[in-house]
Amino acid sequence: MEATQLANDGEPDAEKAFFVADLGQVYKQHQRWVSRLPEITPYYAVKCNPDPYVLRLLASLGAGFDCASNGEISQVLNIGGIDPSRIIFANPCKANSFIRNAGKMGVDVMTFDNADELYKVARTHPRAKLVLRILTDDSKSLCQLGLKYGAPMGTVPALVAKAKELGLDVVGVSFHVGSGCYDPSVYSDAILRAREAFDIAERAGYEFSLLDVGGGFEDDLFERAAEVLMEAIEEHFPDRKDRNIRVIAEPGRFYVSKAFSLAANIIARRAPISDSGAEVASTRRSDQPSVMYYINDGVYGAFNCILFDHQVVHPYVLSMNGSFHVPSSEPVCTSSIWGPTCDSIDCVCSKTELPIGLRVGDWLGFDNMGAYTICAATQFNGFQLSKVVYTLGAGVVAGEVRNKLVGFAALQKRS
Ligand SMILES: *Cc1c(COP(=O)(O)O)cnc(C)c1O
Repeated sequence: MEATQLANDGEPDAEKAFFVADLGQVYKQHQRWVSRLPEITPYYAVKCNPDPYVLRLLASLGAGFDCASNGEISQVLNIGGIDPSRIIFANPCKANSFIRNAGKMGVDVMTFDNADELYKVARTHPRAKLVLRILTDDSKSLCQLGLKYGAPMGTVPALVAKAKELGLDVVGVSFHVGSGCYDPSVYSDAILRAREAFDIAERAGYEFSLLDVGGGFEDDLFERAAEVLMEAIEEHFPDRKDRNIRVIAEPGRFYVSKAFSLAANIIARRAPISDSGAEVASTRRSDQPSVMYYINDGVYGAFNCILFDHQVVHPYVLSMNGSFHVPSSEPVCTSSIWGPTCDSIDCVCSKTELPIGLRVGDWLGFDNMGAYTICAATQFNGFQLSKVVYTLGAGVVAGEVRNKLVGFAALQKRS
């Protein structure tokens, strides 16, 4: 409300789009993780959303971090108070300089899925603890990764033999069922393959001690995924405790998706001119909604998730005509929503029902905007990135989040 007033008064920042990050939600996701997967340590996939407060909170909760580049490793270590052993360099295809630098920084655990990578590691970081990333079925996921990464099972014997020949320390297996996995049953086959890889490695003289079950966890399917995963681990790794096999995962989306919402301001509107109806009969294609809204974030910004992460977003009215309350009797009409850039690919929503009373200056809200949004946003056409406003959540959780963050800060000071 205040923002709209300030914007009307000429305050330039008042109408900017912004995220609200609920750290309490991240905390709750962690509690959910620990309750369902108590023996699997999460290594948060930094690429999903490298927000500094999310990283701090997860560090304070004892999570590790999955980094894919020098930049991500530095970002995590620069926080302070995080030992490099809490990082897995989970990119199977790394530049020589990145491997060398990881070694310098004390990051030893890293993945590989091809023989060339073994030669590179032997040259640049021979003390590394290597994790073999195997190929698993990713056909049940929004973003398939198998096209690019993962050693087919048929290549595993030759890869471990080559590692042995080079005198390298291979410590375990990882996989990724694909990001945004909508059929958790795939974890079962992936664990079976991991077991096979453990056995192949044992025949080559390795005793693996790390099982990394990757990411892919979807918020609403998490409990089911956890169940499938634990059943398969129980079946194929019944002796994991006696053999000191550590199980870790690399969740990204699961931790942050629901924690961030975006508020965007309607900066322009194209609608039939009401008294004459002149624009109804325009030359625009007849299958297009007749009302078009233009908001101040788009697919070149936060909504890049529509293009890169195959998401469909669902707008709702945050405020209309100075009120947070929109009466249910308010008539709606089919509308489209567009981003601010001059490119026509910049469409946020091609068809949605919105109140006909919406006007320039009103606000739209979008939930589930925490995963693969901010991190890949550009400033194309001179539009700035939307800033983040933080909340600790409500009730008991807020207090616990505050305690965790304060405790972590104290620990940082001492170390
Ligand atoms: C992207 C990625 C993840 C995170 O995946 P989510 O689906 O967001 O959980 C984990 N591990 C690796 C290697 C990745 O590339």
